[in-house]
Amino acid sequence: MDVITLGSAYVNWYILRSAEGVVIIDAGFPGYRSQFEQALETHQINPKDLKAVLLTHAHNDHIGCAEAIRQRFQVPVYIHETDQTSATKINHFPPLWFIKNCWRLPVLKSMFHALFGGRTFATKPLKEVTLFADRDELPVPGKPLVIHTPGHTLGESCFYFREAGLLFSGDALVTKNVFTGIDCEPQLLHNSINQHPQLAKESLEKLKIIGEITLYPGHGKLWRGNLSEALFQEKIVKL
Ligand SMILES: [Zn+2]
Ligand SMILES: [Zn+2]
Repeated sequence: MDVITLGSAYVNWYILRSAEGVVIIDAGFPGYRSQFEQALETHQINPKDLKAVLLTHAHNDHIGCAEAIRQRFQVPVYIHETDQTSATKINHFPPLWFIKNCWRLPVLKSMFHALFGGRTFATKPLKEVTLFADRDELPVPGKPLVIHTPGHTLGESCFYFREAGLLFSGDALVTKNVFTGIDCEPQLLHNSINQHPQLAKESLEKLKIIGEITLYPGHGKLWRGNLSEALFQEKIVKL
């Protein structure tokens, strides 16, 4: 399986290519739309091979291009049932933690990026979604297992491609501290950024079944290692 990373220094989204077809994981900001077309061309991906868009959760920086891709390529967009409402009715108001933390330069920079590079206000609500639940094995190339890891949002979910040893964690685990802008080991987002911080911590328990993997987070660089070891040894920082 080939993983193509799209996005910016602030946000990641991914194209996953295998012999059975192509899956898109998360959908960046709406301002990233041309990246997708560019990637299809550069990597010679036949649009007919696109099978699905999988969304880790319904924030604007993760669903920005989803509706446009769904309409243009007629692919189903999957999301956890609990995040359905936020995906289909967009709330453009920036979250309170964002406003409160704007005095931090990295947060201010990402605000500017969201507004101008990401064009967050152009995020379109999804008109049609396919819902999944915890432990579903999705009928898309690679047959990822859904691990529902609520906390950042109530529907936040990770996609675990067991055979390929890949985990896409969205904002349940990230490798960039968004307050400092510094790359880090996999960690939870700061309490103030998680809708239910306690739940986010408890959700980590569900990831202890995962050994050696390559982790592709929603923010930060990829990480390789044994996730259950990292979790058992409490290497994962819980802020
Ligand atoms: Zn998020
Ligand atoms: Zn995010």
